[in-house]
Amino acid sequence: MTININALDGLTLPGGCEHCQAEQKIDANWGGRGIHRIAITHDNWCPRINGSNRAARRAARRHR
Ligand SMILES: [Zn+2]
Repeated sequence: MTININALDGLTLPGGCEHCQAEQKIDANWGGRGIHRIAITHDNWCPRINGSNRAARRAARRHR
């Protein structure tokens, strides 16, 4: 199956993280020709962007 990534450039999709309401943005021309990435933006409180597991647990508790 072939996906035309250029057709999806700039598209933002919900999801990408099991902890928060993350969004995934498709950047079709990130690194030049043929190189793309999907950037995931996490919520500020998300344990995935808060370093160690201990910090993550603390962050999760604080959020609740
Ligand atoms: Zn997240």
